[in-house]
Amino acid sequence: MDFYDKAQVMAIDIDLGKKYDNNATSKRAIMLTLNNIAENYKLLGEYKEALSYSERAYNIDAQLDYSLSSGLTILSLGEIYYLLEEYEKANNLSYTALRYLKQYNYAIAEGDTYKLLALTSWKKRDFAKADEYFNIAINLNKKESVPSYRIDALLSYFEYMIDREKTTEALDILISACDISIKYNQPQKVSDISMKLSIFYGDIGNHELSFKYIKLHHLYERQHTKSFNKNIMKGLNIKKKMQKIEKENNKIIEKNEDLKIKAQSLELLVQKISIISELGQKITSTLDVHLILDILYSSIKDFMDLSYFSIGLYDENNSIINYLDVIINGKKEKVPSFSLKNKLSFNGKCIESRKLIIINDISKEFPKYISEEAYNIQLKLHYNTQLNSLMFCPLMVNYKIIGVMTIQSRGKNVFTPYHIEMIKALSAYAAIAINNAIKSMQLEMEVKKTKGVQTKLEKSNEILLSLAENDSLTGIANRRKFDIYINDIWDISIQKGSNISLLLIDIDYFKEYNDNYGHLEGDKCLVSVASTLANLNNGPYFVARYGGDEFIVLLPKSSNNHAIQFGEIVKNKIEELNISHKFSKISDRITLSIGISSVIPNENIEMKELIRKADVQLYISKKSGRNRISAENY
Ligand code: GH3
Ligand code: MG
Repeated sequence: MDFYDKAQVMAIDIDLGKKYDNNATSKRAIMLTLNNIAENYKLLGEYKEALSYSERAYNIDAQLDYSLSSGLTILSLGEIYYLLEEYEKANNLSYTALRYLKQYNYAIAEGDTYKLLALTSWKKRDFAKADEYFNIAINLNKKESVPSYRIDALLSYFEYMIDREKTTEALDILISACDISIKYNQPQKVSDISMKLSIFYGDIGNHELSFKYIKLHHLYERQHTKSFNKNIMKGLNIKKKMQKIEKENNKIIEKNEDLKIKAQSLELLVQKISIISELGQKITSTLDVHLILDILYSSIKDFMDLSYFSIGLYDENNSIINYLDVIINGKKEKVPSFSLKNKLSFNGKCIESRKLIIINDISKEFPKYISEEAYNIQLKLHYNTQLNSLMFCPLMVNYKIIGVMTIQSRGKNVFTPYHIEMIKALSAYAAIAINNAIKSMQLEMEVKKTKGVQTKLEKSNEILLSLAENDSLTGIANRRKFDIYINDIWDISIQKGSNISLLLIDIDYFKEYNDNYGHLEGDKCLVSVASTLANLNNGPYFVARYGGDEFIVLLPKSSNNHAIQFGEIVKNKIEELNISHKFSKISDRITLSIGISSVIPNENIEMKELIRKADVQLYISKKSGRNRISAENY
């Protein structure tokens, strides 16, 4: 019964029989075990119990037109009704069983069905039918050579004959049942039948035969007991083996559970590491503190419920906390800086101790950290949202505390060891990332400052340089620049063997102009002359104010003749300016005197000589009436 019960449970879970029989289904397995349980109750004489199991087997079978058992469940049910003395029902079921057994070719069971028909007919006192069916049952069972069925059929037939008071026939039937039992080695049957025969012969006074059968009975009873005991031993051994297997099975299941738990914790670990490393990478690759805060918030939100999140930077010098951002119920809020000087606070405690503060129920745990008064202020600060679980996590870099990360949640007991471990790991990254960002911000500011100073310096240098190289009144090159320039050209011309020319230009009677029109007008005149000289469109040349009302032009790669042409152009251009000069002794407007010198430089000639010669020619121009050009060989 134990095994059948287990079979019931297994049959539901798996198509156990499939391994052995293609037609096996879980339904068939259930039907068979139900039917077997019914058989067991039948053997135990508990027919009511047997009936309930048998009916369940029958109903399952009926759904598939009794194909699962080939009609056997009908016969079984019939037999139980017979035992319950419901002969009409048993009789009807026998006929139905017979029909299905034939349909499914289940000949072995046909003999038993006829036996049931015979028995039910007998009980209904239909002796003709009973006789007929007993004969069929016995003959069928003979054919199918299942001796125990045949013996059972003969025994039933014997009972019937006794009932009918046909003693002689009954005795013959019993003897033949006994012979068959001996022939097919059925010790229990021989033992039972021989006992019956012994009693029978004893009753009719045949003591010899009675003795013979009692001896036979004892002989087979011993045999039967032996094999019965053997079977019990076998059964016990099997049970032991089954128990051992079950034990091993349980061990494997236990081990499996163990492995499952280990695998789960490993999976959790992998998950943890990947969250932390992903976040670490993200936050350490940005230098924007607000972005760092956003990333931290969203990854913490992924593994826990939080209503308040903030990062405050610790300003040690002023003993205040400056909040970067505060996220309350998913929204960013601006929160003023918080002074640590006056009152004790969680932030203050966290900074002072440099240790993580974890509170899983604020109303109970606050006295460990703050006064009741401070607690009430805290409550107000939190916008009337009752936050029960709080965590204050110090942000440390190089043993220095740079700030506090705060996580708060409405629920109680939110922080499990898992959360604490995760947040600790994240805070280490957060501290580094925030520190880097702040450092970089400071550096950027310093760079900006230095850059400002540098550009100012560059500007003044430029001014200084232009002051050194340009004439402040006219803006054209000054004498210093001219000296540098002519030096360069001189060297190049020596290398290339090219001609260079100089024009020394002086305004005529400029003193008179100044004296009569005023110094400012004099300046204006100088600027006009300089600008005209600087904007000539006549090949490459270099012009500078040489001093006072004197200008100098250097023409590289130029002959004396080209210089004279150039001088003419200059003179004409100035005349075209038409600057009135009533006090000039030679004209009514500004005129120029020009002296020209030319040379192909070499190492033996001094540059000064070229200038001196131009000066001589200028002197000649002045002496010979002004407003003219003088040149060597002119
Ligand atoms: P000459 O025809 O012989 O050259 O006669 P001059 O009057 O031009 O004589 P000189 O060249 O000696 O005089 C130059 C004058 O130019 C002297 C000074 O008053 C004037 N002067 C020199 N530098 C400046 C200046 O920067 N601004 C003004 N307004 N006048 C200047
Ligand atoms: Mg002059």
